[in-house]
Amino acid sequence: MPPIDRPRHDEYDIVYIGGGTGGMAGSRRAASYGKKVALIEASPKLGGTCVNVGCVPKKIMWHAADISDKIRHAKGYQFRGPGVGEPQFDWKSFKPKRDEYIRFLNGVYDKNLVNDGVDYFHGSAHLKSPTEIEVTTANSAKFILKTRLICVATGGRPTIPSDDKIPGASLGINSDGFFDLEEQPKRVAVVGAGYIAVELAGIFNTLGTETHLLIRQDNFLRTFDPTLYETLGKWAEHTGIKVHKRTNVTKVEGVKGKPLTVHTDKGEKIEVDVLLWAIGRHANTEGLGLEKLGVELNKKGEIVTNEYQESNIPGIFSIGDVQGREPLTPVAIAAGRRMANRLFGPPKYKDDKLVYEDIPTVVFGHPPIGSVGLTEPQAKEKYGENNIKIYKSSFRALYFSMVPEEEKEPSVYKVIVAGPEEKVVGIHIIGLGSDEVIQGFAVAMRMGATKEDLDSCVAIHPTSGEELVTLR
Ligand code: FAD
Ligand code: NDP
Repeated sequence: MPPIDRPRHDEYDIVYIGGGTGGMAGSRRAASYGKKVALIEASPKLGGTCVNVGCVPKKIMWHAADISDKIRHAKGYQFRGPGVGEPQFDWKSFKPKRDEYIRFLNGVYDKNLVNDGVDYFHGSAHLKSPTEIEVTTANSAKFILKTRLICVATGGRPTIPSDDKIPGASLGINSDGFFDLEEQPKRVAVVGAGYIAVELAGIFNTLGTETHLLIRQDNFLRTFDPTLYETLGKWAEHTGIKVHKRTNVTKVEGVKGKPLTVHTDKGEKIEVDVLLWAIGRHANTEGLGLEKLGVELNKKGEIVTNEYQESNIPGIFSIGDVQGREPLTPVAIAAGRRMANRLFGPPKYKDDKLVYEDIPTVVFGHPPIGSVGLTEPQAKEKYGENNIKIYKSSFRALYFSMVPEEEKEPSVYKVIVAGPEEKVVGIHIIGLGSDEVIQGFAVAMRMGATKEDLDSCVAIHPTSGEELVTLR
C-alpha cells in the first residue's frame, strides 16, 4: 500500500505536487497513458481540501441541515409522532460518522493511486530546479525525485486576519476548524460574504444555531447575479440569520474554546461560542522554492499560468486553486485531465485544454443557487442594455404547497439572452433543486442554445426545472 519512500524510477515523466483534486486527477490520467508518474502529498490524508475539509463534508452537513428542514415540513404533510416538526440534530454523534466516511474516501484515493500505477510519496515538496524536487518526509528524511515535468497542484488555505490588524482575531476558527467542531455551537458569528460564509452560516442556522453573518457591504455573494443574492439575502434574514451589513470586526475578546465577544465598528458586542472567518483563501505557494526558480506569481501569490496551464518556466505547470482561476473541484479535475491528455495522450488531444468560460457553479445555501454564464450587469456591459433580454419567473416549488406560508422557500429562475437570435448567455436560478437543475442547462448553454431551443424542449411536469423551458 502507498505511500512509498524511495523513487522507483531514475527519472519520472511528470511529478505532481499535491494529492488533492487536481493532483489526483492529473496524475491518474497521465499514468493511464503508461507514463512514469509520481505524486507528493504533504498531509497524511489524500484528497486535499475537497475531500477532507471542503465540498464533501460540507455537502454532508448541508444534507443534515436539509433533513432538519424536511422534519419541520413533515408536520405540514400531516406526519405525526414524536420528533415530527422538531428536529434534534446530534452533532456530537454525527461528526465521528462523517469523519469515518471521509477516512473511507482517503482509503479509496490510496487504492486508486496504486491501481493506476502512480508512485505516491508522503512528504513536503520543494523545487530544487525545473527537473528536481526534494521531498522531506514526516521523519525529516530527504530524497530527490528527478523528472521531465512538474505540475504544482498545492491548492490553497483559508485566510485569517492577523492579531495586529484585528486584536483577538486568532480566537476565531476558519472553515478547516468548522469540520473539527465536536459539538454544535449555540451561537456563532461568521465573517465573510462568499461561498463559504453563506454555506456555513446556512448550515448553522438551519440546524438551530443562533447565527450572525457579518458582511462588509450590503449584500453577500456580490459576484453572483443580483437576483440570486437579493433573493437569498431576504430569505436568510427571514429564516433567522442575523445579517450585520456594512460591518467590520474591530476586536475579539475571550479565551479560545470559550464564549467570545466580537466587537464591530458599529459599536456592537456580539456574544458567541464560535467565531468563524470565511473571508477568502490564498494559494499554497510558500516554501516550494518557486520564486528562486523565477516562477511568476501574481500579487495574490498565485501561480500565473497560460491557457495550457504552463507557468513562465518551461516544464513547470500548475492546476487547481494554486493558479487562482475558478477555484472549484471540477475545474481542477478538468484542467488536470486535459493537461495530461495533451501532454501524453493520443494525437486527437494535441490541443486539449480547459476553457475557463461559462463554468457552472452552485452555492449550497438554503435554498441552493445554481448559476452559469454572465450576470445581468455583465451581460449589459458586454452586449449593451438594449441588446439583451431578461426572462424571469418567481414561484414556489410544489413541494412547499403543504407547508405553512412562512416556510415556503422562494424560487426565482432567470435566463439572460443576447442579440436578435436570443442566444442564452446566462442562467441564474435559486430555489429547491437548483443545485441539480443547473447542470443540464449549462450543457445547453455551452452548446449555444437560444431561447427558442429552450422553448422547443417539452417540459417535465411537475418540476421546478420546467420553468426554464416555459419562460415568457
Ligand atoms: P487541494 O484540494 O487543496 O489540494 C492541494 C494539496 O496539496 C493538499 O492536499 C495539500 O496538503 C498539498 N500540498 C500543499 N503544499 C504541499 C507541498 N509543499 N508538498 C506536498 N503537498 C503539498 N468546490 C466545489 O466545486 N464544490 C464545493 O461544494 C466546494 N465546497 C468547498 C467548501 C469549502 C469549505 C472549501 C474550503 C472549498 C470548497 N470547494 C468546493 C473548493 C474545492 O475544495 C477546491 O477548489 C479544490 O479542492 C481544489 O483542488 P486542488 O487540487 O487545487 O487543491
Ligand atoms: P470567496 O472569495 O468566495 O469570498 C470571500 C468574500 O469575503 C469576498 O468576496 C469578500 O466579499 C469577503 N471578504 C474578503 N475580505 C474580507 C474581510 N477582511 N472582512 C470581511 N469580509 C471579507 O471565498 P471563500 O473563502 O468563501 O471561498 C473560496 C473559494 O472556494 C470560492 O471562491 C469558491 O471558488 C470555492 N468554494 C466553492 C463552493 C461551491 O462550489 N459550492 C463552496 C465553498 C467554496 P465582499 O467583497 O462582498 O466583502
